[in-house]
Amino acid sequence: MKKIFKRVLGDPQIRTLKRLKKRVRSINALEEKYHKLSDKELSQQTIKLKKRLAKESLDAILPDAFALVRETALRVLGQRHFDVQLIGGMTLHEGKVAEMKTGEGKTLVATLPVFLNALSGRGVHVVTVNDYLAQRDAGWMGQIYDFLGLSVGVIIPDQSFIYDSKFTNENHEDPRMHHLRPCTRQEAYAADVTYGTNNEFGFDYLRDNMVREQNQLRQRELNYAIVDEVDSILIDEARTPLIISAPSVTSGAAYAQFSKVVRNLKRDEHYEVDEKRKAVVLTDEGVDKIEKVLGIKNLYGIDNIRTIYHLEQALKAQALFKLDKDYVITKDGEVVIVDEFTGRLLPGRRYNEGLHQAIEAKEGVEVQEESMTLATISFQNYFRLYEKLSGMTGTAATEAEEFNQIYKLEVVEIPSNKPVIRVDRPDRIYRTEVGKLKAVTREIKELYEKGQPVLVGTATIEKNEMLDKLLTKEKIPHQMLNAKNNEREATIVAKAGEKKAVTLATNIAGRGTDIVLGKGVKELGGLHVIGTERNESRRVDNQLRGRSGRQGDPGSSQFFVSTEDDLMRIFSGERIAGIMHRLGVDDDVPIENRVISKSLEGAQKKVEGYNFDARKNVVQYDDVMNRHRKATYAMRREILTQVEIQKRIKLFIEEEARVLANSPLLLSDEFEEIVTEVFPFDESTLDRLFDTESDKFAEALIREAMELYNVREATFTEDIMRKIERDIYLQILDNLWMQHLENMDHLREGIHWIGVGQRDPLVEYRRQAQRMFEDMQQTLRHDVVRTLFHAEPIDTNRAVETELTLAARQSVDNADTITEGEEFHETDFVPHRVAGEERKKASQKRKKARKAERQRKKKSRRK
Ligand code: ADP
Ligand code: MG
Repeated sequence: MKKIFKRVLGDPQIRTLKRLKKRVRSINALEEKYHKLSDKELSQQTIKLKKRLAKESLDAILPDAFALVRETALRVLGQRHFDVQLIGGMTLHEGKVAEMKTGEGKTLVATLPVFLNALSGRGVHVVTVNDYLAQRDAGWMGQIYDFLGLSVGVIIPDQSFIYDSKFTNENHEDPRMHHLRPCTRQEAYAADVTYGTNNEFGFDYLRDNMVREQNQLRQRELNYAIVDEVDSILIDEARTPLIISAPSVTSGAAYAQFSKVVRNLKRDEHYEVDEKRKAVVLTDEGVDKIEKVLGIKNLYGIDNIRTIYHLEQALKAQALFKLDKDYVITKDGEVVIVDEFTGRLLPGRRYNEGLHQAIEAKEGVEVQEESMTLATISFQNYFRLYEKLSGMTGTAATEAEEFNQIYKLEVVEIPSNKPVIRVDRPDRIYRTEVGKLKAVTREIKELYEKGQPVLVGTATIEKNEMLDKLLTKEKIPHQMLNAKNNEREATIVAKAGEKKAVTLATNIAGRGTDIVLGKGVKELGGLHVIGTERNESRRVDNQLRGRSGRQGDPGSSQFFVSTEDDLMRIFSGERIAGIMHRLGVDDDVPIENRVISKSLEGAQKKVEGYNFDARKNVVQYDDVMNRHRKATYAMRREILTQVEIQKRIKLFIEEEARVLANSPLLLSDEFEEIVTEVFPFDESTLDRLFDTESDKFAEALIREAMELYNVREATFTEDIMRKIERDIYLQILDNLWMQHLENMDHLREGIHWIGVGQRDPLVEYRRQAQRMFEDMQQTLRHDVVRTLFHAEPIDTNRAVETELTLAARQSVDNADTITEGEEFHETDFVPHRVAGEERKKASQKRKKARKAERQRKKKSRRK
């Protein structure tokens, strides 16, 4: 059916390519025009294009911009963009994902849309997967932009650079990185083009929403981003959000205790594990045992909410998370997450909700203090902030649906410059893992003796190390790359195509680095790639295969699998092992069986489906929070820029007065107290107020409140009043926001339990989150107004700090213009009386929320 439709309507892919090929012709037609120009004339074309942009659209000047960049690349790099690269460039400009195989020259492709879009002066971000690539690509492509008069910045953790051809730093092995001059964060962001890692772009966004003054902002608007290795960033990493946190005050001893408790529980007897869904559930026996060990009557009783929380995390840590697979322990005894698809380490990221601490306790390393979230965002939501987003990678087609659904990104498969002639051989299937690894070793040995280079991919660091031992025993010289030696991996991988090279790598190791074949290697068949097990997604397999056969090179690839591999084990491995056993297949003898390979692919598709669901789930939940974050950050920006803060304050006062006037307590004895708690009116004002007719009371209250406000402003002077307003607002907003983040975390946790009942947890989450956010708005208004009417300035030169602004200060060490020059001090006003009360109230509120939470949990568990 589908095929017929396509034939009638035309495959959209083919249509797109046809359209773009037509534009290639118009770019090619301009080639001569730019070729004839002198260097000087050529470099001045940028100004001309900028002028044209005042009247014409980006699309109208695209052919000239692309032709100009192509000619410049030819002159400064000796590389002329291939026609397919122009197609890739246009795809990126159109805000789509360009699938271009490894080695097709995506780094160069990006220069086309980057230059074109940078002409607007609104900034273009190029996002890379690691620090090395950010610097390499900026330094490399910087030559083109520099020639054309555009500036290029780089942002990586703790460092920022600007491309400067007059500056030289020869500390780097790679000459492409020699002209990067250190600069401030703002300078790097102010550049026409900024290269950087996904993490740093995201963190800077969060930090910018924590600063105290407008001149501390790093980023400009988020205009256009091109994400390199887009599948790695937007899909593989999408399940772990970025979090900026500060230590808080919960004991590490609790984790140790619970780790001990769960160690004595038996799988299937005390708890059950659902590996597919990554969940652990206690059985009734398990509950009984824990109650006995801990000496408590009812585990699900109201008082044991912390207990359940700790238990859940300890159980997960025990049953679902494995050392050297899901995480590693560094020399310093730190638990660092390993990206489950790519094998890359994710330093600085921590599992949520106490799971990280539970793993630390399980491994007996120091349990890091539980932390308080200051700011958090998922990659999905960060990258959706850009006005235009595009991406490139060798492997996107298998995830086209996800790109489309979540990011509204269309995937376009760009044809390769030369046909791919790599031979992908059918899988070899072994009964046992030991048999498989022996066979892999034998195969490597043969290739090594023949001289043909081989790249071996492993799914985990653990397997990488196992093979390392086997090869060492066989005296086969080899290089090992895993996430543990991230820095050197680029140089090592670059040599993986040389004669007799044997390279062991985890999946992502060396992604983005070009593997050039050594002399005489083509004749030997090019680079051979061995996969030591099928990965959880076909995309990751394809990525590994794609390391071979670049730019029309010869090459080959093959996967070795066993019925004991994780993927097989979970999906019908036993059955296959049984068949092999009955057939009398030896451990070392492989079978190549289409049915089994097919069923493996089926298993991969299933896992891909689960993971897609999990990521969609993250997005759906994060979307709720995202609305809150957007609203809060918008308010915060408003305060920073100080536009119309007074207008907002007046609205608050009016609103607060109106709410008071409509209070059900209006006729009660306490009402006067309730009013004066917010608006400290004097006796005569109060008398006047309470004498007004009831239908005019609201208006009278507003009038008197405004009058009081004006008096205060006259006393303090306008300038000081504005400053007080700003400080109060910022402080209260930051505190409430942090509290809200924590409440949302708890709500999220609690929602799992609601799933046990009849209601849809997501719907329930949305409903309750909405109510919490509305509560937060009301508290904000009330607290701001009340504090404003009670505050007294003590020193107008001092500035107020919040948890957020303090943390933001600590995180900007490299942006030296920010921290120097102005030192901050303690509170510059004493909100007399209120401070203590406010804290008390907030804590009572939280207590109440927790209690409600506990009761809900309890109810739903009872079902
Ligand atoms: P990808 O990111 O697509 O895997 P790279 O950007 O790393 O590929 O480029 C691979 C290699 O191809 C690099 O050595 C690069 O210099 C080279 N290359 C790319 N485009 C061209 C071109 N138009 N002409 C010559 N060499 C090119
Ligand atoms: Mg690349």
